[in-house]
Amino acid sequence: MAAHRTAYERHAPDPRLVERALAGSEQSVFWLEDAGVSSLFPSLTASTRADLTIVGGGYLGLWSAVHAKRRDPGRSVVLLEAQTIGWAASGRNGGFCEASLTHGEANGRSRWPEDFDVLEQMGTDNLAAFEADVHDLDLACEWERTGTLSVAVEDHQVPWLRDEPHFLDRAQVRAEIHSPLFLAGSWEASSNALVHPARLALELARVATELGVEIHEHSAVTGLRRRSSGAVELATDRATVTSGHVVLATSVFRSLVRRNRLMTVPVYDYVLMTEPLSDAQLASIGWAGRQGLGDLANQFHYSRLSADNRILWGGYDAIYPVGGTVHVRHEDRPESHARLASHFLATFPQLEDVRFTHRWAGAIDTSTQFTAFYGLTHGDRVAHAAGFTGLGVGGTRFAAEVLLDLLAGVPTERTSLGMVRSRPLPFPPEPLASGGINLTRWSLDRADHRRGRRNLFLRGLDRVGLGFDS
Ligand SMILES: Cc1cc2nc3c(=O)[nH]c(=O)nc-3n(C[C@H](O)[C@H](O)[C@H](O)COP(=O)(O)OP(=O)(O)OC[C@H]3O[C@@H](n4cnc5c(N)ncnc54)[C@H](O)[C@@H]3O)c2cc1C
Repeated sequence: MAAHRTAYERHAPDPRLVERALAGSEQSVFWLEDAGVSSLFPSLTASTRADLTIVGGGYLGLWSAVHAKRRDPGRSVVLLEAQTIGWAASGRNGGFCEASLTHGEANGRSRWPEDFDVLEQMGTDNLAAFEADVHDLDLACEWERTGTLSVAVEDHQVPWLRDEPHFLDRAQVRAEIHSPLFLAGSWEASSNALVHPARLALELARVATELGVEIHEHSAVTGLRRRSSGAVELATDRATVTSGHVVLATSVFRSLVRRNRLMTVPVYDYVLMTEPLSDAQLASIGWAGRQGLGDLANQFHYSRLSADNRILWGGYDAIYPVGGTVHVRHEDRPESHARLASHFLATFPQLEDVRFTHRWAGAIDTSTQFTAFYGLTHGDRVAHAAGFTGLGVGGTRFAAEVLLDLLAGVPTERTSLGMVRSRPLPFPPEPLASGGINLTRWSLDRADHRRGRRNLFLRGLDRVGLGFDS
C-alpha cells in the first residue's frame, strides 16, 4: 500500500504563517504561570519521624497524603518533594480527567478481561468521588464536566466511530467545532472532566496541609533503607525522616527501588497554548460545548479551551530521549512545536491571526501495559505506583487508595485486581530500549500514513501485549 499524506500534511499552512504564529511564544508552562506556582513550603532541615512519609509532590503523592489523613486523622504524614509541588507532569498536562483506569476500553479488555467490568465501575466511581471532592474540599481547579469529542480526520477513521452511541456525522461534528478537517465524531459526555492541572495540584497541597500534612519542597530523597527496627529511613541532603510506612510517588524520575528502574521510560509530549481568543475568533470555531477534543490517529492531537478561552494544542510527537533521561533540555524542541503549530493551523485555518504565547513539554511516565503498576518492598513497608502513561489525572486518585490499602495489609477489592497484583514487562536496557521504542514510533507513524494499517512489528507487539504509547 502506497504511503499517503495525512490530513494535517494535505492541509499544511504556509510555513511563514507557522513561524509568525510562534514568534512571540515563550518556553514556559502556561498552567504553572497562571496558577502562580512558586516555592510555598520549607525544605527539610532537621531530622524527624512520621507514621507515613510520601516521596513526590505530584497528584499521586498529594492524593496519598489527603486520603491518608482522611482515613486516619491522627496519623502523622510528611511529604517530601524534590522541587516544587506540581512542577512536573501534574502541573503541565492537558487536564483531561478520565474515568478509565485502564488507558481505554480496548487496553483494559484485552489485558484484564475477567476484571474489566469491575475496573470500569471503579473508574466511574472514582470520577464521581473526584467530583464530590472538588465540591466538598472546595478545590478551585476549574472543573468542567463538558465531555470529550473524538474526531475522525481521515476517511479510514470514520468507520471506527460509526458504532459509538453518540456518533456525529460530518455536518454534526462541524456544527460543534468548525474545522474543515473533521469528517465525523463521537461525543462522550459522562466519562471525563477537564481541570486546570496546576491549580488542582496546589489545591490538593492546600487541603493536605489543612489536614495536618507536613510538606517540604526542595527536599529530594537520595536514599532509602530499612533500619533494624523495621522502620524505613529516607535521606535528603540535610536530614532524614524515619517512618513506619512510605509511599513512593516519584513517577518517571529515577526510582529509589532499583528493580523498578526499567519499568517506565520518559516519553516527551509537546504542547502549545494560544493567547485568549476574541469573541469573534471564538465564534469562528464554535466550540460552545467546550468539550475536550482528540483525534483518532496513532499519533494524535488533544486540545481544549482554558477558562479564559485560550486553546491548548498538544500531542502527536512522542519523543523518547536516547538513554531515557529526564532533563529540561528535552523540553525545547523547535521542530515538534513547529509541527504542532502547523497542524493547529491546518485544523483551524480561520485562526491564522491567533498567536501562541506559551510552548512547553513534559515527560510522560510510560509503562509497557499503559497503566500504572503497583508493589510493596522493604518488608511491605514501602508502596509504589508509577506508569500512568499519559492518563494519570483521574487514575492517580484511585492509585493513592490502592497504595494505602497495600500498606494497611488488609486485602480489598482494589488490591485483588489483576491490574494491581501483576507486574508488567520491563523495558529492555539501552541500547535495546532506544532501538525498540524508535522502531515502534516509526511503525505507528507509518500506520498513520497507510490508512491505519499496522505492520508486522506492531501486530507482533499487540499479540504479546507489549506497547509504547503516550
Ligand atoms: C504534557 C503532558 C500531558 C498530559 N496530559 C494528560 C491528560 O490530559 N490527562 C491525563 O490523565 N494525564 C495526562 N498526563 C499524565 C499526567 O500528568 C500524569 O500521569 C500525572 O501527573 C502523574 O502524576 P504523578 O504524581 O505520578 O507524577 P508527577 O507529577 O511527575 O510527580 C512526581 C513528583 O515526584 C518528585 N520526585 C521524583 N523523585 C523524587 C525524589 N527522589 N525525592 C523527592 N521528590 C521526587 C518530582 O519532583 C515530581 O514532582 C500528561 C502528561 C504530560 C507530561
